[in-house]
Amino acid sequence: MITPLMPTYARMDLTFDHGNGARLVTDHGVEYLDFGAGIAVNVLGHGHPHLIEALTSQASKLWHVSNLYQSPDGERLARRLIEASFADTAFFTNSGAEALECAIKMTRKYQSATGNPERFRIITFEGAFHGRTLATLAAGRQEKHLAGFGPIVDGFDQVPFGDMEALKAAITDETAGILIEPVQGEGGIRPVANDVLRQLRSICDDNGLLLVLDEVQCGIGRTGKLFAHEWASITPDIMAIAKAIGGGFPMGACLATEAAAQGMTAGSHGSTFGGNPLAMAVGNAVLDVVLEDGFLDNVNQTGLKLSQKLARLRDEYPDVIEEIRGAGLMIGIKCRVPNTEFSAACLEQKLMTVGAGDNVVRLLPPLIVTEADLDDAVTRIEAACKQFAASAVARQANA
Ligand SMILES: *Cc1c(COP(=O)(O)O)cnc(C)c1O
Repeated sequence: MITPLMPTYARMDLTFDHGNGARLVTDHGVEYLDFGAGIAVNVLGHGHPHLIEALTSQASKLWHVSNLYQSPDGERLARRLIEASFADTAFFTNSGAEALECAIKMTRKYQSATGNPERFRIITFEGAFHGRTLATLAAGRQEKHLAGFGPIVDGFDQVPFGDMEALKAAITDETAGILIEPVQGEGGIRPVANDVLRQLRSICDDNGLLLVLDEVQCGIGRTGKLFAHEWASITPDIMAIAKAIGGGFPMGACLATEAAAQGMTAGSHGSTFGGNPLAMAVGNAVLDVVLEDGFLDNVNQTGLKLSQKLARLRDEYPDVIEEIRGAGLMIGIKCRVPNTEFSAACLEQKLMTVGAGDNVVRLLPPLIVTEADLDDAVTRIEAACKQFAASAVARQANA
């Protein structure tokens, strides 16, 4: 018999009741260290007092009025995101995929509004993940996500990750833009080299294309900059964000320059819930903390410490860990053992991680993670490594 929750997820037999900072407690009172943060969502951890205050005080005032009326908190959040980025304007959504849908539509609309309606195709990269709507699935082009869902939405051309020659060859008279995650998340924490991002910027400029970034996972401080593309000193034309901006409240945004958004006139796009007062209150509260002096410096320092500690484990357990990669607190452990088994071994040590492509285990702790949390996590990861090292020794002894 089908489960009440449609069985599209293979859920673990683990139920959480409440949390505090980077710690979560199950319904049986067992404490876990959360280095998955709801897949890069809970940037301020669990039970953050400032977020609780923002949401509950908004909840007692007003929940929803629709986008037919003014939105002072939405305008404030948009202004703050604009001031902190390349953008001139923002459209609020409820999820990452919706932010990408807006980005894709805007890219096409821009070309149409500037006299090139034949340009509607978008180039994407192998290993990409942009969401689960029909258009974003076509953009990500993962066989396992597309199977059985009928014809693939047209308008996307995929090239191998980092292959600039293939990219240039894929540009045609119908190309409208290039869409890329500055650090692939689901693909296995694969950072795009700064130099490659700069080349993409100039290829777009030379060919009349828009550069569209998907910072749904790597944005809002995760890599130690507010936005990951800042490391490459480039700016996109359009950028999708989500996950962390709501700190656990479902929301996203599509940011754009004035030029890129010129086709987005009244009636061209919409969302009933997008920019809802509850979401805007929480989004503003997340920015209050993330934009505080020193917050991002701290992410850099903490990220560096974690990477160094993990590098030591890689040196000590080369048969278990192949590589440590990523930026800030977006770290991938590329495993030599199956990543699902490594992740399960961490979970046995009461450490939550997230799997990814390319046999990687992701560490995406809340950005407020303490040094004590780090040490604790590394001890647990080491215990997991030991377990594999011991079983390899046992296998050799038996052989
Ligand atoms: C999670 C994610 C998405 C999709 O976001 P949803 O909120 O699940 O729709 C898109 N792009 C990237 C890079 C993501 O990590």
